[in-house]
Amino acid sequence: MVGLTHYLAYPFLLLTIVPSWSVLRNIIRALFNNARQIMQTIVLIIVIIYLYSVWGFQYLRESFVMENDVDNCSDLLNCFATSFSRGLRAFGGIGDALTANAVNHGSSEYWGRYWYDLTAFLIINGLLLCLLWGIIMDALSEMQRERNSIHQEFNSICFVCGINKFELETKGRGWKRHIQEEHSVADYMCYLIYIDEKTKTELNSLETYVKKRKDVHAVDFFPIGKAMSVREKEPARDSLGSAAGQNASTTGGNVRVEGIEELRGMIIEMREQIRDLKTHINGAPVAQVL
Ligand SMILES: [Zn+2]
Repeated sequence: MVGLTHYLAYPFLLLTIVPSWSVLRNIIRALFNNARQIMQTIVLIIVIIYLYSVWGFQYLRESFVMENDVDNCSDLLNCFATSFSRGLRAFGGIGDALTANAVNHGSSEYWGRYWYDLTAFLIINGLLLCLLWGIIMDALSEMQRERNSIHQEFNSICFVCGINKFELETKGRGWKRHIQEEHSVADYMCYLIYIDEKTKTELNSLETYVKKRKDVHAVDFFPIGKAMSVREKEPARDSLGSAAGQNASTTGGNVRVEGIEELRGMIIEMREQIRDLKTHINGAPVAQVL
């Protein structure tokens, strides 16, 4: 709409690349998250430059007469604008931008100019500007650390159940199979979208429950800390089969084997008792059916 009134608005459309690229989007977000710190530092820089402008306007006005005898400190605002612009852009601070030979070594203003140049460079360029860049760099590196942490977590912990990769590899059917088939994030997303698309009357009881919990932003319908493949494999090791023999080498395994043998003996004894009872009731031996 703005482009219809002025053609210079069209170049700003190039800024639409910012939300399109995730890296740029994250940089902007990192800067906005630290906007308070950045703004406070900038305000402090402006205040310090203003103080130096007052100093220069009061005592060093000859130094602000630069090329072509233009007076860049005709009033306090002009003095501040010159200090702000040229002082920040000059590598050695405002002292590099001012006229070098404005004061002689023997004059009374010499030491004033000396300390003006030196302290302005140390405080504004050496300390405050570095502090500002440091805050920005810290914000960006913090964002990078956060992204790496999320990336690492995403590749080592199941997004659905929260079970770690090691446990799934050793107790389950493998990490890749788990995240691609058993707890596929895409499948869960499709399921949630599917529930959203259905009308209330089309939902079965399970879907109704999930939809209700989802609507209140509860996630307790996810199998947190549970996975069928892990559950399936663990009892197998405790069964009467060969897995019991594998555990026999450990103390815990011996305890389980002894318990199983005791249980087996009890079952055999119960079979004998039932057989005797049937014999007694029928008056004749019965076929061994158990
Ligand atoms: Zn999982």
